[in-house]
Amino acid sequence: MGRVLIIGAGGVGTVVAHKVAQNADIFTDIILASRTKSKCDAIAKAIGGNRIKTAQVDADNVDELVALFNKFKPKIVINVALPYQDLTIMDACLIAGVNYLDTANYEPKDEAHFEYSWQWAYQEKFKKAGLTAILGCGFDPGVSGVYTAYAAKHHFDEIQYLDIVDCNAGDHHKAFATNFNPEINIREVTQKGKYYENGEWVVTEPHQIHKPLNYPHIGPKESYVIYHEELESLVKNYPTLKRARFWMTFGQEYLTHLRVIQNIGMARIDEIDYNGQKIVPIQFLKAVLPNPGDLGENYTGETSIGCRIRGIKDGKERTYYVYNNCSHEAAYKETGTQGVSYTTGVPAMIGAMMFLKDEWKRPGVNNVEDFNPDPFMEQLNKQGLPWVEVFDGDLEL
Ligand code: NDP
Repeated sequence: MGRVLIIGAGGVGTVVAHKVAQNADIFTDIILASRTKSKCDAIAKAIGGNRIKTAQVDADNVDELVALFNKFKPKIVINVALPYQDLTIMDACLIAGVNYLDTANYEPKDEAHFEYSWQWAYQEKFKKAGLTAILGCGFDPGVSGVYTAYAAKHHFDEIQYLDIVDCNAGDHHKAFATNFNPEINIREVTQKGKYYENGEWVVTEPHQIHKPLNYPHIGPKESYVIYHEELESLVKNYPTLKRARFWMTFGQEYLTHLRVIQNIGMARIDEIDYNGQKIVPIQFLKAVLPNPGDLGENYTGETSIGCRIRGIKDGKERTYYVYNNCSHEAAYKETGTQGVSYTTGVPAMIGAMMFLKDEWKRPGVNNVEDFNPDPFMEQLNKQGLPWVEVFDGDLEL
């Protein structure tokens, strides 16, 4: 049905490559490109069958990207490099006439701040070019928005309270490691907390609001309100929401390490001088931390991510909880990576599949909840991320 180009050969890129290769009827040709070509080659070799071509690209460089796009002529690019590259890849898509999908919104390198405004500003350009851009199509953002759209479409007349709950109850048996790119992860979780209530954003100190929540098959885990990017588009697209929050679990060990990392200056994102050389401490830290893509081998336990929603149906209050549990071991068996890469990579593949099947095709810049959730939900069940619904249970929130 179409040729796809994946950019980024980290943990998530590995999963996307496996999943597109498994769906050969949709993805007829696959190209995997990244800054370090040897990583692409290793992934292509592990998948085998000469299914995947590889290439080197610096995705900060628009000209290099355009040359790559013109050489391979993909119908869609799946961007699973870093959020820093979103805008250069979108620029190249506009020049070369290629559709676009990513899993994380743009953030500038020199400011730990993410919001959609930079990418939403491309709306008219993508519309005019007749190209579709699909933003934030991992698990969260991604499936969290699709779950919300599905709930609003099928189970509510009005959704009023939304809590996205993200639990990783896995154990990678390392003293400290992050489950996706350490630089992006640490920038995200050390930010101030922020949630939406009664038409306003409420800002808190980092990790100020927390409580234990019960996760299916896992039990109670301390969960913390943090700011997460999908809240920005969801409160805009569902104006009936009175409150929208995002909760993530953290273990005490993780939080202690994080505090030390911050206190000793290793989370700094500005350049410092080290022996006459400029280095950015958080980038140096990334170089010495375990590679998230390599955590899979000894990872045990599960992730559980879902949406807990309260609202009105047929004049009565109703609650709804939809979630997926993903086993790190099963993810590793299938793709050689852990569950967080898996839960991100599978939806990215499904988003591209939705585009190629003409299910999700709309010139302009779109968040996932702008599209019909039904075919995507169907694919989640087929592609390794089955979901479970609980009606009128206790949401604890
Ligand atoms: P990794 O750090 O493991 O992989 C990133 C890859 O991008 C690496 O292969 C890296 O190359 C490559 N890359 C970085 N800069 C460039 C560049 N300038 N040009 C070309 N390639 C580049 O990250 P993850 O796989 O863990 O995460 C990938 C993305 O997924 C991130 O944007 C992350 O925010 C997002 N994510 C989204 C989630 C969701 O649910 N929505 C959850 C988790 C992650 P090299 O190997 O040379 O360093």
